[in-house]
Amino acid sequence: EIIDTGWNLDNSYARLPKSFFTSHNPTPVQSPKLIILNDQLATSLGLNVQALRSEDEVAVLAGNRIPEGASPLAQAYAGHQFGHFNMLGDGRALLLGEQITPLGERVDIQLKGSGRTPYSRGGDGRAALGPMLREYIISEAMHALGIPTTRSLAVVTTGDKVIRETDLPGAILTRVASSHLRVGTFQYVAQWGTVEDLQIMADYTLKRHFPDVEADESRYLTLLQEVIKRQAVLIAKWQLVGFIHGVMNTDNMTISGETIDYGPCAFMDAYDPATVFSSIDTQGRYAYGNQPYIAGWNLARFAETLLPMLHDDQEQAVKLAQDALSNFTKLYQTNWLTGMRAKLGIFNEEGQDESLIEDLLSLMQKYRVDFTNTFRALTFDRQEETDMFATQEFAKWHEQWQARLSRQQESKASSQQLMKNSNPALIPRNHRVEAALEAAVNQGDYSVMEQLLDVLARPFAHSAEQADYSTLPAQSTTPYRTFCGT
Ligand code: AMP
Ligand code: MG
Ligand code: MG
Repeated sequence: EIIDTGWNLDNSYARLPKSFFTSHNPTPVQSPKLIILNDQLATSLGLNVQALRSEDEVAVLAGNRIPEGASPLAQAYAGHQFGHFNMLGDGRALLLGEQITPLGERVDIQLKGSGRTPYSRGGDGRAALGPMLREYIISEAMHALGIPTTRSLAVVTTGDKVIRETDLPGAILTRVASSHLRVGTFQYVAQWGTVEDLQIMADYTLKRHFPDVEADESRYLTLLQEVIKRQAVLIAKWQLVGFIHGVMNTDNMTISGETIDYGPCAFMDAYDPATVFSSIDTQGRYAYGNQPYIAGWNLARFAETLLPMLHDDQEQAVKLAQDALSNFTKLYQTNWLTGMRAKLGIFNEEGQDESLIEDLLSLMQKYRVDFTNTFRALTFDRQEETDMFATQEFAKWHEQWQARLSRQQESKASSQQLMKNSNPALIPRNHRVEAALEAAVNQGDYSVMEQLLDVLARPFAHSAEQADYSTLPAQSTTPYRTFCGT
């Protein structure tokens, strides 16, 4: 009996001007093997899980077979990488098409690690198993934390080796995104296309992400304002859980407001705005505390691409763009402040809230306490966990905080509930992720990863089984380092 897999692919991107992409097929691999499949995500996409596990469909996930309705292509884009403008494009990824889900949503299905494309430059177009599983784990953890993100549908191994510092098992990740449109996509069209091309790209984006305004006369300004709004929401969410993206180049900033590119990202342990994990970010450009500023910088690059369409008079266009951009800082600050209030169980607004929050963060930085565990300790009023809690300084802050809570109508219980919903019990701890990858890649034991994925799927459950996953690694003398492009 043949079960219908449920592929329901459209190819709206392939109908755009030819300069926006290159049609290209994946390069076949030796011996595809399914490592992990996201059953829930598959089902929500209208895909049959049992069918997806069949040899024919694993061949699709490995790029050895093109499913019906697919029209594989590599997207062209540019980007500022650490401030330097470059022509980029999908160098190791291919868009198979857009799956139309049972709810009528349109999402990109992309293979990452599927071989060279015309945009590969010096790269081999491939990916290693470890980094693809890492993306799977962290992107799914982000989703569970309520943070907009690309999703991970599956990882397959290819049976081929990829050559890095050592030989590594090759793998392909199937990435799902509401689109792969990036700030860098607009930069590409603005740099090498016509104003008409730019309008086509902007109208396509509006149709896909902001259909309510696609016919408005001021739609391009609205596009800028809406992207700014989504990024303000996203970056605030990152800051509130201590997520450090690590490579916020303009090609890694989506128009949809989803987090993309899980190369060198990692979660902060001890609170310090200067925290950097990426081995190549030697200047700290993408440090935790710099992320809101960098987002603003990237959005300014986005605004520049839209200038020809914002107003016939370019001076007026610049003014409109500047007004929109200055609103980013306000929107970000509001989102962050609201989120921080919630982390402290505060429902209403008082003028002093920001300094109450800043005072706590200063103490956390001074005593180098763990970001996630500190808010969890506050949530459950467990003060014994670190040195900070024993200090006079903290006692004074705690008193002010309690006084603040007593000045709102809501009960202590609802305040604690708000904190439980706002402070995750666990995040994908670097040493836990590493242990899962080590078992998977070196021992072929996927059980550690499966268990980790299971607890990460419910970060606000505050269950007993999660407690174990919240422990910090033994003090290490070498800082944790992450790498991209592996
Ligand atoms: P990233 O630093 O991950 O944002 O990637 C920057 C650019 O390098 C993108 O155009 C990628 O497609 C490309 N790239 C990364 N790794 C490879 C690879 N192994 N082969 C070809 N292109 C790659
Ligand atoms: Mg990237
Ligand atoms: Mg990357």
